[in-house]
Amino acid sequence: MARITTLVLVLLGVLVLHTERAVAWGYQGHEVVGAIADALIADNANAKKQVRDVLNGPLPPEAEIKLQKELRVWRELTLREAGPWPDCVKAVVHHDGNRFKYEVDPEHPEYETPCIPFNSAFERARMEDYAKRNWTSCSYVTGGVERGCHNTFHFTDVAIQRKDYALGEAGTNDHDLVAAVNACIAVLMDRPAPGPFSIRDKKEALLLLVHFIGDLHQPLHVGAVYLDREGTRVDPDATAHPYDAATETAGGNLIWDENVNLHAEWDDIPFDIGRKANRDLLNAARAVPATGAPMEDWARLWATASLKAAQDAFEGLTFAPSVAPIPPKWTVTLPDRAAYLQRADAVKRQQLAKAGARLAQILNTIWPRN
Ligand SMILES: [Zn+2]
Repeated sequence: MARITTLVLVLLGVLVLHTERAVAWGYQGHEVVGAIADALIADNANAKKQVRDVLNGPLPPEAEIKLQKELRVWRELTLREAGPWPDCVKAVVHHDGNRFKYEVDPEHPEYETPCIPFNSAFERARMEDYAKRNWTSCSYVTGGVERGCHNTFHFTDVAIQRKDYALGEAGTNDHDLVAAVNACIAVLMDRPAPGPFSIRDKKEALLLLVHFIGDLHQPLHVGAVYLDREGTRVDPDATAHPYDAATETAGGNLIWDENVNLHAEWDDIPFDIGRKANRDLLNAARAVPATGAPMEDWARLWATASLKAAQDAFEGLTFAPSVAPIPPKWTVTLPDRAAYLQRADAVKRQQLAKAGARLAQILNTIWPRN
């Protein structure tokens, strides 16, 4: 009995940790989106210079640079390396007394892989400072635990029944993913970030923007399925079906498909892509039509497009309450698993290309060709 209990606790611990960290494209996806944009702005000398200056300034103290060079960790940041930054911030732990400390998880050293560019006292201090400024400015409670405001910036939860993203619908708010993208753009345009966002400077804004444009193109970061206690879909915006918080799916993080949660299944990018932008992705990105309308409408329009991709992602899926009391909470049945995963693979390639192209469109608009 004790052994079983211990095993269950260990498994639950793993699941909870996995759930907490698996809240974005895998870091590879974020690096690829940044890499596509690096390539697409290469012919705009103004944007290229501004991105380089913003990401690499203000420089750390002289002694820190010397130390980093000795340790061979000194490097110039690109959009590709910037992509995972807001997920690296998740390693900042909130302690009693309002103390925030970046802590490497000894159980998961692999989480550090994309965070190596920020593995210095100077950059870790920046992450701690950002987490502290964006912890209590809004509340984000899941499983009875306060996760910190900044962890909500990565997603919005529009019901898949909606046709468009519109602020005010269930799952949207002034600190969701769409608001976060617009806050980053504001700072890069020399305007203050609207509350509740605290964005210290353009470097922080750009580190956030690269990541959030990636998240905005992951369908399950935008469209959500809402269920009743039996696992039947409900419409949280319809008064006849008020949303029951006890049935939350956490963007698919609490929905399990065999051994992986549905959210993580969508976060993973096709293995062959790796961590860079390949020729196919660059060609696809260059073919993405520019979005019309004023720039302040882009995040909303792109969220609407991702919502449609989420509607496809949930098409034909059925859900049932899981037997386990806490995560996994739901199980999903895919009508044809192989076909579903194959289609998801193709959608992911399109979405990565779109994200990279749109990030470049923002940067080319903020810093146009001279
Ligand atoms: Zn994210």
